[in-house]
Amino acid sequence: MDIELTPEDLAFRDEVRGFLQEKLTDRLKRAIVGGHVDEHLIVEWQKILYEQGWIAPNWPKEYGGPGWNITQKFIFENECAEAGAPPVLPFGLKMVGPVIYTFGNDEQKQRFLPDILQSNAWWCQGYSEPGAGSDLAALQTKAVRDGDDYLVTGQKIWTTYAQHADWIFCLVRTDPNAKKQEGISFMLIDMKSPGIDVRKINSIDNQHSLNEVFFDNVRVPAANLIGEENKGWTYAKYLLSHERTAIAGTAYSKRALERLREIASEEMAGGQPLWEDAMFRAKVAQVEVDLMALEYTELRAIASVAEGGAPGPESSILKIRGTEIQQAISELAVEACGYYAHALEPGIGNDYAAAISSQYLYGRAASIYGGSNEVQKNIIAKMVLGL
Ligand SMILES: Cc1cc2nc3c(=O)[nH]c(=O)nc-3n(C[C@H](O)[C@H](O)[C@H](O)COP(=O)(O)OP(=O)(O)OC[C@H]3O[C@@H](n4cnc5c(N)ncnc54)[C@H](O)[C@@H]3O)c2cc1C
Repeated sequence: MDIELTPEDLAFRDEVRGFLQEKLTDRLKRAIVGGHVDEHLIVEWQKILYEQGWIAPNWPKEYGGPGWNITQKFIFENECAEAGAPPVLPFGLKMVGPVIYTFGNDEQKQRFLPDILQSNAWWCQGYSEPGAGSDLAALQTKAVRDGDDYLVTGQKIWTTYAQHADWIFCLVRTDPNAKKQEGISFMLIDMKSPGIDVRKINSIDNQHSLNEVFFDNVRVPAANLIGEENKGWTYAKYLLSHERTAIAGTAYSKRALERLREIASEEMAGGQPLWEDAMFRAKVAQVEVDLMALEYTELRAIASVAEGGAPGPESSILKIRGTEIQQAISELAVEACGYYAHALEPGIGNDYAAAISSQYLYGRAASIYGGSNEVQKNIIAKMVLGL
């Protein structure tokens, strides 16, 4: 996509490129492989971004954002993706951070935001429960007031990286008698609290990112409640629209497409590089066109957020198309690797084959998490099309 860049924009782009060339080592590029994170490398990379003042492009300047305009954010995201930088972990920086600076009190902002920016605290998201995924408002984990604390009891599931987390932001039921959306609160819970039990779930590619988190009478200070009691659904929806916009990941899909081209040039089919195959190239071209269209849509959404709005129900469109495109690219990568894409262990076929199969298998989840794509279609029908 062509964007008219001013001389200042070009200077900014060069500054970002120079920084990435200097700081983004090949070792750090391996912080995320096949959709799973190396917990040490990602923190190392995030701390480098923090030192540079670039860890939270979307945060307001007063809370530690760099104060960039929309073009600078776009340039930064694209340069990072193109250079192969690992995307930052979303749970603190893109999810709970914006909730805290938007709805939290001063004490909460001072207490939590610096550690999020400096990657001193690892966060996870406690929304989903065994009976409450798409129908999130059906959640049953309850928090009962006890003096200056709440006692939390229940279960969360699919909690990504709970095994590394210092904190979990949770939706809990504080009023069992209210209409289901109206009895929910948003709470920050220290993962070291007595009564929390984290149990591993192995994903389809035999990796450990997912967990169940059990709460048995966990004592949580009332000071950790965000905003008002029973108003958590409002904050939860605000967070979800940010999450969906972030899941679109167009800059990273552009990089994945480039990588696909490199792989297709290395892999042989019928005595020639696969990239010479017109049918294969046509499939890649279709995805490229889809991605370009998505990028324009994303830019429109970013522009409206830059003008002070929160991402609205349109973020559901970004989520659906973004994840469909990510999955289409990973399917083509599997096609390019042929049989070797069946291997989940490195060392069989080209060295990239294992990561490609992990990415393909784990990437199926992208159309489920952040709210499944079917549910996003319902949101578009109701909120965007007014059906
Ligand atoms: C890899 C991965 C990571 C995740 N990480 C986290 C995390 O960190 N924290 C967290 O809180 N959650 C996380 N989740 C949970 C995720 O948000 C839920 O899986 C998701 O909301 C779907 O809920 P469910 O799994 O209960 O499926 P269900 O809600 O039971 O849905 C099952 C099927 O029914 C369809 N369906 C349901 N309702 C409707 C409807 N009204 N109309 C049409 N179709 C419908 C769905 O699209 C889906 O195909 C993660 C999930 C995955 C797979």
